[in-house]
Amino acid sequence: MTRFIFITGGVVSSLGKGLASAALGAVLQARGYKVRLRKLDPYLNVDPGTMSPYQHGEVYVTDDGAETDLDLGHYERFTGVASRKSDNVTSGQIYQQIISAERRGDYLGGTVQVIPHVTDAIKEFATDFQDDCDFILCEIGGTIGDIEGLPFLEAIRQLGNDLRNNAIFIHLTLVPYIASAGELKTKPTQHSVKELRGIGIQPDIVMCRCEKEIPEGELNKIALFCNVPKEAVIPALDVNTIYEVPLSYHEQGLDVEVLRAFGIDDAPEPDLSAWERTVSRVMEPEGEVTIAVVGKYIGLQDAYKSLTEALVHGGIANNVKVNIEWIDSEIFESEDVVVHLEGVHGILVPGAFGERGAEGKINVITFARERLVPYFGICFGMQMAVVESARNLAGMPTASSTEFEKPCLPMVGLMTEWETDGGKETRDEASDLGGTLRLGAYDATLREGTKVAEIYGTTQISERHRHRYEVNINYVEQLEETGMVFSGLSPDGVLPEIVEIPDHPWFIGVQFHPELKSKPLDPHPLFVSFIKAAVEQSRLV
Ligand code: GLN
Repeated sequence: MTRFIFITGGVVSSLGKGLASAALGAVLQARGYKVRLRKLDPYLNVDPGTMSPYQHGEVYVTDDGAETDLDLGHYERFTGVASRKSDNVTSGQIYQQIISAERRGDYLGGTVQVIPHVTDAIKEFATDFQDDCDFILCEIGGTIGDIEGLPFLEAIRQLGNDLRNNAIFIHLTLVPYIASAGELKTKPTQHSVKELRGIGIQPDIVMCRCEKEIPEGELNKIALFCNVPKEAVIPALDVNTIYEVPLSYHEQGLDVEVLRAFGIDDAPEPDLSAWERTVSRVMEPEGEVTIAVVGKYIGLQDAYKSLTEALVHGGIANNVKVNIEWIDSEIFESEDVVVHLEGVHGILVPGAFGERGAEGKINVITFARERLVPYFGICFGMQMAVVESARNLAGMPTASSTEFEKPCLPMVGLMTEWETDGGKETRDEASDLGGTLRLGAYDATLREGTKVAEIYGTTQISERHRHRYEVNINYVEQLEETGMVFSGLSPDGVLPEIVEIPDHPWFIGVQFHPELKSKPLDPHPLFVSFIKAAVEQSRLV
């Protein structure tokens, strides 16, 4: 029997509902329960794949190739449960499905309406694929009061009746501190819950984000006005590191309240020791390293959420704090590279789309390669590393990617463009932009005896991809003459997956996104090894 926990948010956005859901998932898991997390997003985009990273943050890719909301990354990092396509739905997808059905005549001429058609589709999504989970946690995107969220709230309200005692509601709000009055204010929480009750949802638990300890008096007031027992008002206070959130929730009694709301009285005690160990490592590092991330979307750090986390995980494994210096690659097109990179212990060029800043990245890669600074190229960062070696070491000055405007020697391109003389496939940019990428988990075979084979401890791996262009296999021989080794290929040997330079302390480029699979309790081996190399570098400079 699967129980459902619906999580809504109120007062303001960006309260960290995704993180809160993920952390609750982790605490329930620590009690021995099987959990799965889901996100229901009210926006009309069909998926976040074509949304600007500036607006939406990172696009999180699942094994089964779905481009999803970044909250699924939190879910996976906190619970270790691989998310799937069926764990994220948007209004856009729901409407697309309903309108197609209507066009096919599936409704036999009946009137198609938000209730019941849209709400039924939402309910079906939320309760599908239960795979023997003890708990499914469903986070509703947006904030109470959003017009577009209404069908979702109506759907979960109905589910509260359909599932009877097997569904509960948690509402996450903000208790702001008004400095001039020196007071914490509970009114916004009261209003938010009132709004929710107006829709027909009485929360079982109210979680209050707050920057300060909430005094008893205020907790009582929230309980009274929000119509919940006082124990069900859970302070969600700011903590030093996000990995402390599961511990803090447990301390505040969240899991006990959840179990009580379901009437479960025989739950095993939680084992949170792995989280405790992780937190103490984060809080008491033995040293620190600085990694320069040379990217494009550095204005919004959510655009690199998983990457940031994976670097932290690499630090946890090596007992060091990782300082990240975010640098816009465009500055390296005009300024002197060295000034900005002197003294960093590692350089990472992450995934990117489009030409802007690419030449800057290539200059940075030359610097990392020549000065023997650990270099980690991810996706676009690998493609540019190959272009750099081709241009500067293999005597192919026109080598580039067909992703860019200028005709070039297609060192990186669509497979159909590999054989051409810089000619490009005509791409109809106006056509459907969704779903034209190589997405999701693909296997790769690593060459025996290479650095990556040693790092992974195996020669068979599976990693997640999100890219359109491929490094051109036809140039492998010329590139290998420069000292670059193609140490990972697709199992059929056609697509380069990993390159490395053995004659360098640490120079690895990967076509996939290892950051998507890194977890605090199970850091990704490539990030562990990269940070280790940075620690060694820090002893040199
Ligand atoms: N723009 C490149 C491609 O489409 C790289 C994508 C990425 O870095 N995620 O292949």
